[in-house]
Amino acid sequence: MKKDLQILHDKDRCVSCNECIIVCPQSGEDKTNPVIVAAQHKGEPPEINCIDNCIQCMTCWDFCRAQAITFVNHHLVQRLVVNEEALRKVSKII
Ligand code: SF4
Ligand code: SF4
Repeated sequence: MKKDLQILHDKDRCVSCNECIIVCPQSGEDKTNPVIVAAQHKGEPPEINCIDNCIQCMTCWDFCRAQAITFVNHHLVQRLVVNEEALRKVSKII
């Protein structure tokens, strides 16, 4: 199932808020091979860097204010319960 997943990131819609990085349980400076990484230059859109580490929780999609994230084959994606670490991150921005 995982090999069918694609995350499309529309950089024209993206407002470079980096909230997808904050809420993603598989991203952040403390992660090895994070899925989403911030751009080197402030104000530029982040990159989807390591989709293999994506757990398909779709939290980034939930929180993207610009609707810049789209999942291909999302009908195949089983939503997972977001873990405690992700909930702590989310609580900082809502
Ligand atoms: S689906 Fe979940 S693990 Fe994958 S990039 Fe989005 S927030 Fe991160
Ligand atoms: S949450 Fe959406 S708008 Fe913000 S950086 Fe991520 S993709 Fe771009």
